[in-house]
Amino acid sequence: MELELEPLNLPSDQERPIVIAGPCSAETEEQVMTTAKQLAAKGCHMFRAGVWKPRTKPGGFEGNGETALPWMKQVKEETGMLTATEVATPEHVELALKYGIDVLWVGARTSANPFAMQALADSLQGVDVPVLVKNPVNPDLELWIGALQRINQAGIKRLGAIHRGFSSFDKKIYRNLPMWQIPIELHRRIPQLPILCDPSHIGGRRDLIAPLCQQAMDLGFDGLIVESHCSPDDAWSDAKQQVTPDILDYILSLLVVRDEHY
Ligand code: PEP
Ligand code: MN
Repeated sequence: MELELEPLNLPSDQERPIVIAGPCSAETEEQVMTTAKQLAAKGCHMFRAGVWKPRTKPGGFEGNGETALPWMKQVKEETGMLTATEVATPEHVELALKYGIDVLWVGARTSANPFAMQALADSLQGVDVPVLVKNPVNPDLELWIGALQRINQAGIKRLGAIHRGFSSFDKKIYRNLPMWQIPIELHRRIPQLPILCDPSHIGGRRDLIAPLCQQAMDLGFDGLIVESHCSPDDAWSDAKQQVTPDILDYILSLLVVRDEHY
């Protein structure tokens, strides 16, 4: 099945790739607004924050849910940045759209589940919003493409993929193995599909953000989605991999972006 695609049309600086930045989770109004204002001051156009958080084990912070959505709206009103959040159920889609979230993404645990993907796709029928689909947690290109096809069949043409690495028992260096050959093959199969790289969930550590961003640029990725928090060590989720807006800006300023693709 061919995908029917239209350009994502997301804002990006001339010299920089598409960048979506923001904390792993929307924790408090203050944390959201402080981080967003710092990112906006650095020229960032798109803000990410998880409102619903799928956690590997029970007992962790699972997101503020609907309570956090007015904070995202406030980010848009006060900074002009577009907002993005993860949706995993039709109810999430309905609420995110109700509060004016501009970009939806599907997480790696959801894209691994065809029933969940189909339910999401059904809830997106007749809706025009950009949707980014993360790779499934397992290294299965067909499952990733199937998830993209389901969303596309629902009529979403502004579609993109996010490479966030693949889960493995071996976590010596990377939290999730990059296995770059998989997004490269995705690009070969569907050349017009934009692909963003998520160095935060691949690396799982702050010091790997810069090299992973550069690797993604060297491979011709279209953009980056990076976790950034006003006070990373205090983050309620994924503390080790978040960087301050200042550090993120520095990392981005050093990136060498080439013209050629893959
Ligand atoms: C996230 O973006 O914070 C997240 C939960 O990502 P993933 O689905 O890639 O694990
Ligand atoms: Mn995270």
